[in-house]
Amino acid sequence: MTHEALKRAVWQANLDIVRAGLVELTWGNASGVDRAAGVMVIKPSGVPYDRLRPEAMVVLDLATGEPIEGDLRPSSDAPTHRVLYQQFDGIGGVVHTHSSHAVSWAQAERDLPCLGTTHADHFHGPIPVTRRLHPEEIREAYEHHTGTVIVERFRRDGLDPTHIPGVLVAGHGPFAWGPDPAAAVENAIVLESVARMALHTYLLNPSVRPIDGALLDKHFLRKHGPGAYYGQVS
Ligand SMILES: [Zn+2]
Repeated sequence: MTHEALKRAVWQANLDIVRAGLVELTWGNASGVDRAAGVMVIKPSGVPYDRLRPEAMVVLDLATGEPIEGDLRPSSDAPTHRVLYQQFDGIGGVVHTHSSHAVSWAQAERDLPCLGTTHADHFHGPIPVTRRLHPEEIREAYEHHTGTVIVERFRRDGLDPTHIPGVLVAGHGPFAWGPDPAAAVENAIVLESVARMALHTYLLNPSVRPIDGALLDKHFLRKHGPGAYYGQVS
């Protein structure tokens, strides 16, 4: 993907999270990475979505986080996105929103269990919640530490971020990712949707169990991984 194509893809992803109903006001941001060029592209901070243009996307040096293109300041969450790109190989786009059902699970500090195949088609297991940030992590380099608690949770449990493409940050909300910005948007939509479904499922049956491993594996692996057969051969 060229530089200009990446800016366009990131711009489109930022519009798509609004269109999907995941964002109120300016509570959301999407980014993309070009690992070969060593850059990430992210939405500028505080610009209304209807005034966003592809040219306004901010290009940052992936190694230093310094802006290398664009006149506007990057989204304040840029350091979180950068930690995810640096620590999670194989992800190409990141989306952060405050979509209400996913936020509810993050605020409840509960892992989102896999209760059905909608979840299993995109996430190969529960969507984890992070620990709370310590006061010193909040006072100093807060957005960077929001990234490091995500990475810490994945490392602690040996989770593969390409199989679990999202997380709930305790007391905050969801981050989702994927191979490119459009896939990250899709996973953010699925995360909000399965968070809503799970809430209703627990209301109807508080003692429901997660689906069986065989069903989880069947649904995830038929769409992802070496034996995938879902959809059309391209
Ligand atoms: Zn946020």
